[in-house]
Amino acid sequence: NLKVGIVGLPNVGKSTFFNVLTKSSATAENFPFCTIDPNENKVPVPDTRFTYLVDFFKPVSKVPAFLNVTDIAGLVKGAAEGQGLGNAFLSHIKACDSLFHLTRAFDDDDVTHVEGDVNPVRDLEIILEELRLKDVEYIDAAHDKMAKLVERGDKKLKPEFDCIAKVRDFLKEDKKQVRFADWNTNEIEVLNRHLLITTKPMIYLVNLSEKDYIRKKNKWLVKIKEWIDANDPGAMLIPFSGAFELRLADLDDEERAKQLEELKTTSALEKIIVQGYKALQLMYFFTTGPDECKAWTIQIGTKAPQAAGKIHTDFERGFIMAEVMKYTEFKEEGSEAACKQKNIYLKCPDTVVI
Ligand code: GDP
Repeated sequence: NLKVGIVGLPNVGKSTFFNVLTKSSATAENFPFCTIDPNENKVPVPDTRFTYLVDFFKPVSKVPAFLNVTDIAGLVKGAAEGQGLGNAFLSHIKACDSLFHLTRAFDDDDVTHVEGDVNPVRDLEIILEELRLKDVEYIDAAHDKMAKLVERGDKKLKPEFDCIAKVRDFLKEDKKQVRFADWNTNEIEVLNRHLLITTKPMIYLVNLSEKDYIRKKNKWLVKIKEWIDANDPGAMLIPFSGAFELRLADLDDEERAKQLEELKTTSALEKIIVQGYKALQLMYFFTTGPDECKAWTIQIGTKAPQAAGKIHTDFERGFIMAEVMKYTEFKEEGSEAACKQKNIYLKCPDTVVI
C-alpha cells in the first residue's frame, strides 16, 4: 500500500489541505471504510473513464483507484536535533513512498509564520535540510557499524560498505539529497535496503491566497520554480490555494461549477491527486460490468499475469492470456460484444506489459 506524505513547516496549510482532500472527494460519504485515522486517508483518484463506466453500467459496487495520503506534522527547523515534536515525524516519513512538500506563499497576518515572515524558498531549504540531517544521522550509524565488520574481515560486506561510504559523502560532504544523484543498479539495490528519506520523490505544492491563485500570479512562484530547477530538477510544482479549495469543498456541485465558471478557474485538487498517484509509479486497469466497476492498482511495468493475480491468485497461477479492451474503443463501439466482433479486443500473452 504505497502512500504519499504531506510535509512542510507548521502553519503552511497542511492539515487544511489534507481535510480538503478528504472533504471534496466525498470520501466519507461514499466510501465509509476510507477513514483509517485522522491523519491518514484514502482519496479517490479522479478519472473521467471511471465516471463514464459507472454511468454506463450503473454497477452495484464502484471502487475507484485510491491515493493514500498522510499528514505529517512535526517538521520544524532543528527537528533533526529534537526541536518541536523532535523525531516523531521520522517514522511517518519513512513509511511514505513520495512526498507532497507544501510551502506557504500567502500573506495573512492572522496566521503566524514560525520563521517570522513569508519566504517559501527559505522554508523549502529548511525542510530539505532537516531531512538531509536525518539521513546523515542514519548513514553515519550504518557506516560505522559496517566499518567495524569490514575491519574484522567480512569481505562480503565490502561492496555494500563502499556504496554506503559513497552515499554518506554525497549526503554529508556534498550536502545533497540522495535522489539528486544517478545511482547504478547495484547502488540502488543497496539504497533499497536502507530507508533513506531524501530518496523520496517530491511534488512541490505552493499554497497561494485565493486571489493570487485565480489570477495565476504571485511574487514567489518564479523564485520557487528557479529554486526547484536548480535544486530538484524535474520535480513538479503545483500552485493551489487551500483557502479557495476549502471554500469550494463546502459548496454543492452546482454552486461549485457556477463559482468556477464565474471566476474562470479550476480546482487544483485533481491535478494534485493524479500527479501524486503517478509519483508513486502506480497505474491501474478496470474490470467492469453490472455488478462492479473497479480500478485495480498495479506498479507501472507489471506484466499481465501479475496484474491478473491482483484480482485472484488463481488467475496468475493458471494464466493463459488476458483479453482487454481499450476504454476509447469500448466507448466508441458501445459494448463489449461489439469490440469482440470488431476484433479490437487485445489479447495479451504473458510477456506483455499492461
Ligand atoms: P499546518 O500546521 O501546516 O497543518 O497548517 P493548518 O492547515 O493547520 O493551517 C494553519 C492556519 O493557516 C489555520 O489557521 C488555517 O486556517 C490557515 N490557512 C490554511 N490554509 C490557508 C490558506 O490557503 N490561506 C489562508 N489565508 N489561511 C490558511
